[in-house]
Amino acid sequence: MPIYLDYSATTPMDPEVFEAMKPYFMEKFANPSSIHSLGREVRDDIEEAREIVAKSIGAEAHEIIFTASGTASDNMAIRGTAEMLKHKGKHIITSCVEHKAVLESCRVLEEQGFEVTYLPVDSDGITPLEAVKNAIKKDTILISVMLVNNEIGTIQPIREIVELAKEKGIVVHTDAVQAMGKMKIDVAELGVDLLTISGHKLCGPKGIGALFIEDNLKADFKPLVVGGAQEFGLRAGTESVPNIIGMAKSCEIIMRDLEQERVHIRKLRDLFESRLINELGDVNINGHKDQRVCSVSNLAFRYIEAEALMIYAEEVCCSTGSACSSESVDASHVLYAIGVDPVDLHGAIRFSFGRFNTEEEVNKAVDIIKDSVLKLRAMSPLVNK
Ligand SMILES: *Cc1c(COP(=O)(O)O)cnc(C)c1O
Repeated sequence: MPIYLDYSATTPMDPEVFEAMKPYFMEKFANPSSIHSLGREVRDDIEEAREIVAKSIGAEAHEIIFTASGTASDNMAIRGTAEMLKHKGKHIITSCVEHKAVLESCRVLEEQGFEVTYLPVDSDGITPLEAVKNAIKKDTILISVMLVNNEIGTIQPIREIVELAKEKGIVVHTDAVQAMGKMKIDVAELGVDLLTISGHKLCGPKGIGALFIEDNLKADFKPLVVGGAQEFGLRAGTESVPNIIGMAKSCEIIMRDLEQERVHIRKLRDLFESRLINELGDVNINGHKDQRVCSVSNLAFRYIEAEALMIYAEEVCCSTGSACSSESVDASHVLYAIGVDPVDLHGAIRFSFGRFNTEEEVNKAVDIIKDSVLKLRAMSPLVNK
C-alpha cells in the first residue's frame, strides 16, 4: 500500500462524512427549490449545513455562499469584488505566492484594464507589512492574500493586513483553503470581508467550496453565474446537495476535533522532519519553520532532483513544486519567490500530513526516502566525494 503524504493536494474522505452524504444521493434527492414536502426537507437540511459551515469560521449563515470549489470561490471573491467596485477604482493587491486560482483571476482582470500589484515575500514566504503599506494607492479596491500557503504552509499576517486596509476602506479577501482544519479560523477576529474554503482539503467531498461574504458587502455583490435565485442570487444553479451536506460534516468534525488533530499531525510532521534532517543531512526546510501550519513539510534534498526521488520512493505519495502544476517542469513560483538556493530548487518536495496518517507510516516513509536519497546522492555528480 502506498503511503499517502499529500494531504495538501487532497484528502481521503472521512467515513463520517461519507455516511452523512449517502441519503442525499437516493432518498433525499429532491430539488431544494421545489415547494413540495420532499424539496422543503432538503432545503432545511441545506440551511442547517450552512449554519454549521458558518459557525466553524465564526460567521453567520447568511454570509456563506456554496460554490463548486475553492477555485470557484476565489474567482467569485476577486472578480465579483472587481465588478462591484470598478467605479471606485481599478487597483488590486495580491501576493506573488498565491494559488493559481487567485493569480489567474487577477490576470483576467488585468486584461480588462485593472492594475494588479504582486507583493513580494521574504525568504520565509511571508509578505512584509511594509510592502503592503507601500502598495496601497488611492484607487486600491481589493487586497487578496492567502492565510496559509499551499506549498510551504507559511501563515500570513492577515489581521495586520486587514488593519492597513480598513484605514483606507479597502476590501480584503483571504484564501483559507489550506488554513481550515489546521488552525482556528474566525472571520471576525481576522476582520476579512471575504474568505475561501474548499471541501476536499478537509477530508470532505471534491467539487464543493464556500465563500464567506461579510454582510455589508453582500448587498451589492455581483454574481458571476446567473440563471436562478440559489445562494441568495449570488450563485445560480441547483445546489450540489450531497456535497454541501458532506462539507458541513467536515466542518463539524473540525470544530469537534481540531485541537487533538493538530497535536496528532504536528507530532507526525516533526518526527518526519527531525528523522530526515538528522539521519540524512543536507536537508533544508523551505518556508518559515515556526510560523507555518502543522501539516506541511517542504524539504529540499540537496544534490538530487525531486522528480528522481519521487520515482525511487514511489511508495510515498507526495508532490514536487506545486501539485496543481505538476505537469510543468518549471520550478515552483513559490519557492522561486522565497529565493530558494538554485541548488535546492529542483530537489524540493512537499510532504503533507493529515487525519489518517500513523506513526508507523511516517517511519516507513522516512526509511524509504532515506534509502532513495542515499542511492541518488551516490550517483549525483554534484556531491563532493
Ligand atoms: C486546493 C486549493 C485551492 C483550490 O481548491 P479546489 O477546491 O481544488 O478548487 C485554492 N487555494 C488553495 C490555497 C488551495 O490549496
